[in-house]
Amino acid sequence: MTAPLVIVGSGLAGYTLAREFRKRDTATPLVMVSADAGQLYAKPSLSNALAQGRVPAQLASETAEQAAVRLAASIHAHTRIGAIDRADRRLAGERGEIAYGRLVLALGADPIPHGLAGDGVDRVHAVNDLDDYARFRAALAGHRRVAILGGGLIGCEFANDLAASGHAVEVVHRGAWPLERLLPEAVGRAMAAALGGKGVGWHFGRTAVRAEVAGDGVVLDLDDGGRIEADLVLSAIGLRPRTALAAAAGLITGRGIVVDRQLRSSDPDIHALGDCAEVDGLVLPFVQPILAQARVLAAMLAGEPARLVYPAMPVLVKTPAFPLVVAPSLAGQGEWQVEVTAHGMVARHLDAAGRLTGFALAGGETGRRLEFAQQLPAWLD
Ligand SMILES: Cc1cc2nc3c(=O)[nH]c(=O)nc-3n(C[C@H](O)[C@H](O)[C@H](O)COP(=O)(O)OP(=O)(O)OC[C@H]3O[C@@H](n4cnc5c(N)ncnc54)[C@H](O)[C@@H]3O)c2cc1C
Repeated sequence: MTAPLVIVGSGLAGYTLAREFRKRDTATPLVMVSADAGQLYAKPSLSNALAQGRVPAQLASETAEQAAVRLAASIHAHTRIGAIDRADRRLAGERGEIAYGRLVLALGADPIPHGLAGDGVDRVHAVNDLDDYARFRAALAGHRRVAILGGGLIGCEFANDLAASGHAVEVVHRGAWPLERLLPEAVGRAMAAALGGKGVGWHFGRTAVRAEVAGDGVVLDLDDGGRIEADLVLSAIGLRPRTALAAAAGLITGRGIVVDRQLRSSDPDIHALGDCAEVDGLVLPFVQPILAQARVLAAMLAGEPARLVYPAMPVLVKTPAFPLVVAPSLAGQGEWQVEVTAHGMVARHLDAAGRLTGFALAGGETGRRLEFAQQLPAWLD
């Protein structure tokens, strides 16, 4: 019997790969292993479900059992893999060993630890999967005041969602304006003002250092001596690719598990994709790159030649108070040109030769994202 293809991880990367693989190969045994319950859900909806009135149970579209039938796969849920034995092609799971022919790591990323001191750290949440989200929503019930650590993509989306659903939100952000690595100051300030208009308070240039229990809530101490009283805290200071399992097995890791444009790690029988992977030097923890990776890897695993290319892939930021599309510049140095139009804002990131390398479109200008994306150089060609 053919040795199975084993996919570790049941997030967008794992499930999209499984679906794409089954389109091409219905014979090879497929095994999926996941530390979580293995439900199929759209992670991006975690940061806009509140205002849409959706409860955590409504976010999963399939159970692991239903997915197993659809994919003709065997799915081991609630099974964390602790080690990879590359010599014997076996995984050490919590309930025994799992043999693989080829292995795919789709392990995702961990929230960066907030590093706060104090006895209130139990009231600090990070939301990176459906279980986290269910815990956060349960803790939020009956409470109004939420402090968010981090004004990046996820922090801003949660700020908008919480404010739109009647919560009092304070955001502590190290940068001088939100999304400062993706937006020029003028657009960032306009975003802060738009969310401010919905009641979001901002603490720019600050970090939180302590969380102390105060009655039912928590007091956050900031590095400038400022204090924020909240019922709970949401940490959204970023994610770090899960590389430990691969590194312990001797695979090359950098910012992520290092793979080439066939999604092959330094062991040709082990592949990686999704938030855990560093693909040809790029770590791009977004939906569109993962879909492209899954199609290429599925073809590869089915024996078809394939090589990953990325067009520029703008990201739609889910902040309805300030509609925004960003296409990060991968070019490094450059300068922003910002235009305020009758409909919104257009920011062009230009390199030294005046070529468009990234952009941000706000308000009514977001409708022009395809026009702008077509002018950008491919991210991988
Ligand atoms: C709140 C939020 C909103 C977002 N919004 C957007 C958006 O609007 N647009 C966009 O493009 N992107 C968005 N993203 C990013 C996007 O959702 C992610 O890039 C994508 O979902 C990552 O999928 P993944 O499968 O790589 O990782 P994950 O979904 O994290 O899956 C990892 C899987 O690996 C399993 N696992 C990990 N370690 C082990 C182990 N040792 N043993 C067994 N199983 C293991 C986990 O249980 C899990 O099943 C958002 C992310 C967040 C957190």
